[in-house]
Amino acid sequence: MARLGGDEFVVLQAIDDQSEQASDLAQRIIQSLTEVFDLEGRRAHIGTSIGIAICPANGVTPQQLLTRADIALYRAKHSGRGCLRFFDPAIDHEVDDRPQLEQELRKALVKDELTLLYQPIFDADGRVVCFEALMRWTHPILGEIPPSRFIPIAEVRKFIVPMGEWAIETACATAVSWSSSCRIAVNLSPVQVLQPDLPGTVEAILQRTGLAADRLELEITEGVLLQDGERALTVLGKLNALGVRIVLDDFGTGYSSLSYLHRFRFQKLKIDRLFVGRLTEDQSARSIVKAILSMSQELGIEVTAEGVETTQQASMLRAQGCNEFQGFLLGHPTTAETANELAAQSSTLNMVEQLRAVSREFHAGDGYIKQAS
Ligand code: C2E
Ligand code: MG
Ligand code: MG
Repeated sequence: MARLGGDEFVVLQAIDDQSEQASDLAQRIIQSLTEVFDLEGRRAHIGTSIGIAICPANGVTPQQLLTRADIALYRAKHSGRGCLRFFDPAIDHEVDDRPQLEQELRKALVKDELTLLYQPIFDADGRVVCFEALMRWTHPILGEIPPSRFIPIAEVRKFIVPMGEWAIETACATAVSWSSSCRIAVNLSPVQVLQPDLPGTVEAILQRTGLAADRLELEITEGVLLQDGERALTVLGKLNALGVRIVLDDFGTGYSSLSYLHRFRFQKLKIDRLFVGRLTEDQSARSIVKAILSMSQELGIEVTAEGVETTQQASMLRAQGCNEFQGFLLGHPTTAETANELAAQSSTLNMVEQLRAVSREFHAGDGYIKQAS
């Protein structure tokens, strides 16, 4: 037995029948430590939690075994007093492989493992007006890792700064190559927004790629305004001055302080998909969406509804004056090539729609003359 430090101890047990003997010993330890101790006349209650890792199943090096026992201990502590837990690869996988993912993420950019997919955003007439660039990491062994998993890791170590720059540059260059002149939206992490040189970086990217500034949208979340509002607002103001559009993403789920809407002129809000998803069955979600839409109209801010999955949601949003729609109903994130085709198709579709409307008028009478003029 060894004391690691503070109130942490390690017990190494040599056993044949692994898990049973280990849990027997652990239970005996927990049991004996729950007894009341008499310390020089004072009654002391102590308890213990135990995490167990087994060699070789959970690791073969001391470092692996200690880390995994520690992860199991963390779970034991969260299960209440006097608990024991075995390391379980199925549950503990995510926490456990974080240091390794971190190592690999560091190299992902130079190894060309990052890509961008583009999800279309439509206006109320069904035209594609914008694409949101969404980052993907294809790991050589683990396959596709979602951004919800790797972006937080990239943020802690600040790899998100070069990764984010790469995303802006790639998205801008891609948009320039498209035949349609729709906008391109790129997500910014709070870590990026707090970099004072971000406006300079964006300006240089616009120059290098030749994208018109007003075709670029940068999406930020409310979190950054809470962390360091003043600094963030200065950076956003400079970006705005370049002509870039600033969008408030996931609106309604953070702290949604209305004072930010007052102090900074966002070009657009995106209503979080949480509200959109509950639109049809939940009266309060309907009221919140309605309030966001009418407030934005008053303020002259555009609104995109995120996560539109059903036609019912789309028509409710449309009836309430929402002007942009994004979601699996209308289009999943897709490659740059498919996105380009989609945008070209959507403008022809729209032209076809317009021609149809014209020909309806023609058949109806003198409307054609009016249209033609
Ligand atoms: P977000 O910016 O709110 O992006 C929208 C997310 O919702 C995307 O998930 C998209 O695939 C998903 N989505 C779109 N329509 C629907 C729908 O109808 N139903 C459902 N259930 N989901 C829908 P994704 O690609 O997994 O991205 C998750 C988040 O990761 C993004 O949320 C964004 O915050 C972050 N992210 C993605 N790419 C980047 C990036 O390049 N940089 C930074 N900093 N963050 C990024
Ligand atoms: Mg976004
Ligand atoms: Mg969002």
